[in-house]
Amino acid sequence: MTKFSDLNLNPKVLKAIEEAGYETPTPIQAGAIPSALEGKDVLGIAQTGTGKTASFTLPMITLLARGRARARMPRSLVLCPTRELAAQVAENFDIYAKHVKLTKALLIGGVSFKEQDALIDKGVDVLIATPGRLLDHFERGKLLLTGVQIMVVDEADRMLDMGFIPDIERIFSLTPFTRQTLFFSATMAPEIERITNTFLSAPARIEVARQATASETIEQGAVFFKASRRDREGSEKRRVLRDLIEREGEACTNAIVFCNRKVDVDVVAKSLKKYGYNAEPIHGDLDQSQRMKTLDGFRDGSIRLLIASDVAARGLDVPSVSHVFNFDVPSHAEDYVHRIGRTGRAGREGKAFTIVVPKDEKNFEDVEKLLQKEIPRVELPNMPKPKAAAEEDKAEAPAPEQTEKKSTRSRSRKSDKPAQEKSSRRSDRNDNNVVGMGDHMPEFIALSFEERRAS
Ligand code: AMP
Repeated sequence: MTKFSDLNLNPKVLKAIEEAGYETPTPIQAGAIPSALEGKDVLGIAQTGTGKTASFTLPMITLLARGRARARMPRSLVLCPTRELAAQVAENFDIYAKHVKLTKALLIGGVSFKEQDALIDKGVDVLIATPGRLLDHFERGKLLLTGVQIMVVDEADRMLDMGFIPDIERIFSLTPFTRQTLFFSATMAPEIERITNTFLSAPARIEVARQATASETIEQGAVFFKASRRDREGSEKRRVLRDLIEREGEACTNAIVFCNRKVDVDVVAKSLKKYGYNAEPIHGDLDQSQRMKTLDGFRDGSIRLLIASDVAARGLDVPSVSHVFNFDVPSHAEDYVHRIGRTGRAGREGKAFTIVVPKDEKNFEDVEKLLQKEIPRVELPNMPKPKAAAEEDKAEAPAPEQTEKKSTRSRSRKSDKPAQEKSSRRSDRNDNNVVGMGDHMPEFIALSFEERRAS
């Protein structure tokens, strides 16, 4: 097994790693660090939680430890899709570079230009930025990118979702052709493939986890329901959410509730608060200080329920989230994996529940296809029932043990699978084996950050 000491990292970086409590490199680190230190381009296909941040920060610190920054000309650049992720990368730099003299600046929206300008004016070794803010500074003539020796693109697939690819291409073209590029993405969409073919030169490609896996420690469930009337769908869905939270009781110590649309993030948060829940919203339209305050509150436990959009929650590193609730089924199946991956982290148990209304059934089928697994159905007492279904039920008067069948029936109406197959799938539902990261889960994940530091 590779050891950190085999990787040719700067001894001061090794010391910081030891103090952080890391014993062995994770697979992405063992794969990416040697190539990065040789000056090669790296294409890392890895999700959050795999240790990918250290796989680029550690070699960067080692490579930058020699040399000095010139005014307005950062020596390296890390691009992140969101402010939160950029702030997390900056925290990582502080931990790993604590014995090395390196200067860094964080260029993110919501922080005053003046402060950031002053830092850049002095000269920085590492500039960590979101693409839009970086280009703002560039256009104001405050920044030159011609001194960039190493450029990192983190979570490129998320950049694609957020429409940042043209910005990224522009930034690439503003940096020297001779730069080294370290490029990370959880998935390789065709557009991402195109970018890497254009801007990376003979990269070392390291892929560490299968694309569509959900941790084995996450118990999943889905509530299928149809509103009694179409105009009541929103309010009845919120009731289903409250019922789900109540059903979990004290086991639900903290949870992220995902909504597809920002407007629903606000509505759901407001509604939960009205019903006496300790809940706060987080999405891209809130100002930076508000978002940081909410995230800190969620991390320290003073906020129990965080209502979030995908973008706001991406990369959020809170080690112990007991539950994830999908108020909506995500429209991209991969997002389901990212969402539920917020719980069951670090080898802990976690639960993830999804509310599925008829218009989301197709998306939900895509999720199950991606996971190659049927997600168990959850029956809640007092579920709102559409008028037609209520009458149908009365006519059939099902025995109690038929309840479960009924829930599959509403979903399989569209499906033309033979009855035999349906019944065998039904029995699958009863075993709770979730497709897992299995082999890929490194041991360190079983410890919290604090525990790792302390050990
Ligand atoms: P990331 O995928 O970069 O978000 O990292 C996930 C978590 O793993 C972070 O909390 C890191 O502090 C931690 N971590 C990264 N590398 C190691 C390692 N080699 N050993 C133990 N923990 C690590």
